Amino acid sequence: MRQPMSGPRSVRDDSTGDRLQTERTETVRRIASLESELDGIIESALLSNNDDEHDPDGATTGYERAKTTAMLQQARLRLVEIDQAIERTTDGSYGRCNHCGSAIGEERLDAIPTTTRCAACASLLPKN
Ligand SMILES: [Zn+2]
Repeated sequence: MRQPMSGPRSVRDDSTGDRLQTERTETVRRIASLESELDGIIESALLSNNDDEHDPDGATTGYERAKTTAMLQQARLRLVEIDQAIERTTDGSYGRCNHCGSAIGEERLDAIPTTTRCAACASLLPKN
C-alpha cells in the first residue's frame, strides 16, 4: 500500500489535510476489519461445507460474503479517492473542479472533502 508523503503541504487551510488524514486512517482501519471479517466468513464456510453442499447456512454465508466483499470494494475505492484528494492538497489543485476549473466552494468541500467537481458540474454529470 502506498503511503502519502508527510512532507510540507501547500494547503491554505491545514484542517483540510488533517481531516483527509483522519478519514484515511479510519478507512484503512475499516478495510482491515472487513478483510478479517471476510476471512472469517470464508473460513467458517470451508469448515461447515466440507462434505455437505446443501448446507442450510450456505445461502446465508454466500450472501454475507457478497455483502462484505461489496463493502470492502467500496472502502478500497474510498481510500483511492482520499489518497487522490490528499495528493491534490499537496500539488495545489485541491478545491478546483477538474471539469470546468472553477473553485468548488468551501461548503461543498466541507460536505464532500474528496469531491473533484463543483456543484454545477456534479449536477450535470454522472457521479465520478
Ligand atoms: Zn465545474
